[in-house]
Order: sequence, then structure tokens, then C-alpha cells
Amino acid sequence: MSESRPKRFPLSLDKVASGVARAQPVRELLRPQAPLQQAEQDRRRLASPASTPAGLGMDSRAVQQRMVERLQADGIRHPALLQAFATIPRHWFVDSALVNQAYEDTSLPIGLGQTISKPSVIGSMVELLVQRPGVAPDDPRPLGNCLDIGTGCGYQAALLSCLARRVVSVERLKDLHLKARQNLDRLRQGLPGWQDVRLVFGDGMLGHAPNAPYDTLIAAAGGAAVPQAWLDQLAPGGRLIAPLEDPRTGQQMLTVIDRLPNGQLQQASAGPVLFVPLKSGTI
Ligand code: SAH
Repeated sequence: MSESRPKRFPLSLDKVASGVARAQPVRELLRPQAPLQQAEQDRRRLASPASTPAGLGMDSRAVQQRMVERLQADGIRHPALLQAFATIPRHWFVDSALVNQAYEDTSLPIGLGQTISKPSVIGSMVELLVQRPGVAPDDPRPLGNCLDIGTGCGYQAALLSCLARRVVSVERLKDLHLKARQNLDRLRQGLPGWQDVRLVFGDGMLGHAPNAPYDTLIAAAGGAAVPQAWLDQLAPGGRLIAPLEDPRTGQQMLTVIDRLPNGQLQQASAGPVLFVPLKSGTI
């Protein structure tokens, strides 16, 4: 798979919090979800008897550590975030036929036409979130009360939970919600001390009012507008990060919206991305 890796993350706060979406430096498109056709080809190739991997087995820690080193080399800096990538076993979240690719910086199919996000893209988004305006210096859980839209297989939610006081994660596809539940059950048993995630089956476009307001909100799917519920449920000092379609070009842009301590909203753009569509309703 020939996905390009982002070159310029993390973006410093002054690049995203200027208050006005300004012209972005030209850089490569982030592709958190691989073209599904390609992913399906990979899946078939890996599932064929000639190349069936034996699994990561005893090597998995070393392979995982190399992924963390690559993320660090790519500009991911936050120590708790790097620690989270080193702690959460990504190969537990992918199909057994794909475990050999689990620590590559690529998205992989997780069923129902959806994909697990690229580690570098998750890393870049979380780096931006931990710099939210209301965060206290040296807060050990800088994501605070965090809402994750689009649980998928639950990998990103599991990472977020290492940096948040609470994570609520919403998924609109019942089968994926149940799959994430299984994955996180395994994590709870296998990683004592890992802080659990609250999984919700529902339409994430409505946010999740019962646990609002949120200090951070992160969306793994993008639409033409930021749902009003997300803005309403964002706490003062909070930050939202989501792919958003540019109406002029149709290009998805990673969008950062802050609710300043005085309640005002401030929006900035952090460059082009390509996420799966945000869809309403549940299935
Ligand atoms: N964070 C996930 C990536 C999942 S891909 C992971 O780590 O695996 C994006 C997910 O967003 C898909 O599962 C899709 O079903 C979900 N999604 C799209 N629109 C949604 C909505 N309105 N509410 C909740 N989930 C949604």
C-alpha cells in the first residue's frame, strides 16, 4: 500500500489556533482510511495459504516498539501519547489475517466497509487535542472528558483513554459497536490498570448529551458541517477536531474548533485529510 506519511506533524498551536482558517502550506494528503479496494486485496493476499502469517507471537513487543519509534521520528512528542501507543496492542484490534500489518503505519479493514485509522493520523490529532486552550500545564490526563465519534474497532478509543479522565465513544453500526466491546473486554482483562471506555451505540452526530460537556471531541468521520450538538456539548476551554468538507473544493480539511474560556468559538484548519463519511442514523 503506497500511503504517504504526513511530514509536518505535530502542528504547533500557532498554526491551528489563529482564529481564521488561513492558507495551508502544500503538503501530502493524510489518508487515515486506505482505499478499501486496496485493503481488500491485501486481506485476500494475506489470507491465502501461501502467505498466512504465523502471527506476531513473541516478537510483537519489539514490532510495536518500532512503530512507537517511527511515530516519534515523525514528530509525535507527547510522552503519555507515546506511552499509550506502546501500551495498547494494535494487533488485538485487527483481523487475524492482518496481524502482520498491525504495526505498519496504515489503515486496515475492520469489516462493514470501515477501517482502523492510521497510527500517525491518530497521533497527529491527539497532539492537537492535548494543546486545548483550557488544559492545565502538566495535567496527567490532558484530554479531560473526551467524546470519540466513530468507535470502529475501538483502537483509538483505547488510546484516548490513557490520556483522558473519561472517554465516551459512539458508533452507529451495531456490529462494529459489538466488536469494539469484545476488543475492549480483552483489553480490560489483559491490561490491568487500563481505564475503561464507555461505549455507546447511537448516532454520533447527536454527540452524547448524558456525559456532556466535553473537554475534547474527536471525530473519525467527516461531513459537510460540524453538527450543532458537538458545539453545544463542548466545554469552555475545550477543543474539537474533525474532518470537514470545504464547500468550495469538496476537499476534506482537518478542522480544529476551540471553545474559549469566554464561551466564544474559534476555528482553524490543520490541512487536507481523507476520512470515511459521517452518516446519520444507526444500523
Ligand atoms: N476510530 C476508529 C476508526 C473507525 S472509522 C478506530 O480506531 O478503529 C470511522 C467510524 O465512524 C466507522 O466505524 C463509522 O461507522 C463511524 N461513523 C460514521 N458516522 C457516524 C456517526 N454519525 N455516529 C457514529 N459513528 C459514525
